[in-house]
Amino acid sequence: MNKSFYKTENKGVTLVKSGLLEAEQSVRHCFTTRLGGVSTGFYASMNMGFGRGEDRDIVLRNYELVCEAAGLNFSRLTRTYQRHGINVKEVTDENVGSGFFIPEFDATDALITKLEYTPIVVHIADCVPVLLYDRSKRACAAVHAGWRGMAAGVIEAAINAMENAYGTDASDLVAAVGPCVGPCCFEVDEDVADVFRSDFGMSVIIPADDEHKTRVNLPKCAVEALTGRGVPESNIDVSGDCTVCDETHYYSHRRMGENRGSQIAVIQISGR
Ligand SMILES: [Zn+2]
Repeated sequence: MNKSFYKTENKGVTLVKSGLLEAEQSVRHCFTTRLGGVSTGFYASMNMGFGRGEDRDIVLRNYELVCEAAGLNFSRLTRTYQRHGINVKEVTDENVGSGFFIPEFDATDALITKLEYTPIVVHIADCVPVLLYDRSKRACAAVHAGWRGMAAGVIEAAINAMENAYGTDASDLVAAVGPCVGPCCFEVDEDVADVFRSDFGMSVIIPADDEHKTRVNLPKCAVEALTGRGVPESNIDVSGDCTVCDETHYYSHRRMGENRGSQIAVIQISGR
């Protein structure tokens, strides 16, 4: 497992990138922070969520700024509307987006595509974003894994979908597990802890102590899901940033409640 994530600023926009994924030819990606956008108030300043009550034009401007800073194709951005499930949809020429909500992607927690210059996006504010790149078949996936999706197998479902659609071999996948709620902050009730104990084993559990309830290490769960499905550990990069602890860089649902913006994770196949 790698820890080669880094922060970079371009055109005033601060982005988070995986060094492992960035080293690959033919793919571009980023995880946004809250720095460098035009949102104000508790949205300040890079809110990427259209459903959070902020003026749509401001959010769209933030998307333009991120695309300019990361070299992504704004005109073919395709997003989804997540439901903490395991539905995976393929983005094709028939359903490719234009930066706007596409109804058929409702209740979808992972997108896959082989289309070039077509950024696929998931929204994050504590849940685990996982970006996948098949360096052999040149296909990619963006996965939103909250605890429910993680427990239900959304990461495995995305890899299955890539296998079926593109003939992906999991050993060719490069995976970036982005900023999310860390093991420091993800306290759960015992019924949730039990789900993770049985699905992922004791290594993802931090026992309760005087200050904390039982905690679950969600990024480690993502790594377990990836390796369990055949992704080599040397092909996995993990951010380690906690969205709850790091107020400077991230919105956090646990810290801010509904009065917050939203981050995105985005990946795009970029031709040779
Ligand atoms: Zn934390």
